[in-house]
Amino acid sequence: MDTRSPGRPSLPLLVLGAGRDLHTERGVECPGDLPAPSDPDLVARATAAKAALGDQVFVLGHHYQRDEVIAFADVTGDSFKLAQQAAARPEAPWIVFCGVHFMAESADILTSPDQTVILPDLAAGCSMADMATAAQVEDCWDDLIDAGVAEATIPVSYMNSSAAIKAFTGRHGGTICTSSNARTALEWAFAQTGGVEGSGKILFLPDQHLGRNTAVRELGLSLDDCVVYDPHRPMGGLTRDQLKNARMILWRGHCSVHGRFTTEAVQAARRDIPGVKVIVHPECRYEVCELADHIGSTEQIIKTVAAAPAGTSWVVGTELNLVKRLATMFPEQSISFLEKNVCYCSTMNRIDLPHLVWALESLVEGRVVNPIHVDPEVAHWARVALDQMLALPGPTHKD
Ligand code: SF4
Repeated sequence: MDTRSPGRPSLPLLVLGAGRDLHTERGVECPGDLPAPSDPDLVARATAAKAALGDQVFVLGHHYQRDEVIAFADVTGDSFKLAQQAAARPEAPWIVFCGVHFMAESADILTSPDQTVILPDLAAGCSMADMATAAQVEDCWDDLIDAGVAEATIPVSYMNSSAAIKAFTGRHGGTICTSSNARTALEWAFAQTGGVEGSGKILFLPDQHLGRNTAVRELGLSLDDCVVYDPHRPMGGLTRDQLKNARMILWRGHCSVHGRFTTEAVQAARRDIPGVKVIVHPECRYEVCELADHIGSTEQIIKTVAAAPAGTSWVVGTELNLVKRLATMFPEQSISFLEKNVCYCSTMNRIDLPHLVWALESLVEGRVVNPIHVDPEVAHWARVALDQMLALPGPTHKD
């Protein structure tokens, strides 16, 4: 390709993915700080709008949000804790959810009809949740019926799924789980069909890694008990026998952040940092979890690092905003990010201070922007699945 123009020197044009620049094509480093809010007045405007709204507004901030947004959160937490917190504030008519779309949907389902949940940027989705659409999952269920295994299958869906997937789960007698209570949820689901030692199956949506890690590492199933259903292939790319023999039918979905951590990064951390402890989220790949010292949800990661003795070294495999915040919160520890080539969650980071200010100032002016309303029929069945999770034994769903 000729990049020359009159009077200008010739510049090499490297086409990514064409094998022309093997160094840069390996990945994009993202080690620096996010840029400061473009307008320094934004902090003052957010402060003023929030003060004007008072108890009328309740701002929720997920752990993976930017610091500039977390600074205005009334409560921080993982997706389930935030939905619970929203439901526990019936006096606040407006819930501003600084997180991603499926979280705002869950908050809408769990809050009263008098409350409105607002997502400051509608483009803040979740790539993992988007990997399972309602139509794809219905097709999958038809495949399970064709294979004669649907009756012995209980769906278990991760919180990180759309309201429509949660509703599918509720309609088919399943449960929602979080990364904290996945083991309890799988044990409950297997108990519906003869127990872990029986012949029943679980359709686990949409994160194959959380499903596999929990079934194999915590319930003692084998990797051979797990098959991966690919929604883009006929019959999920599986034979009838594979579906019949499987105990865990894992949806082919993953987190775009946690799925990128590698075993090489864990090995490099052990090589470079004496005495380091590696802690990763269970959305990481099985091989990565196998090498880690600890595996835990975001809340569990925070608790583990907080409880560690001063002077310990941690390498953390979860979203970068949280890791950087941990390093600030616990300066007496050495805390670093697992992999230099993994970036912030791009959709979580869609929520920034300009969008938060826009949402808050609009409320002050009497306008509700970006309300999240789940269809009542979908909300009903999604609530059934969420309530089933709340009825699971043990305290861990609140972590
Ligand atoms: S970190 Fe992963 S699971 Fe969480 S919102 Fe981003 S893409 Fe989705």
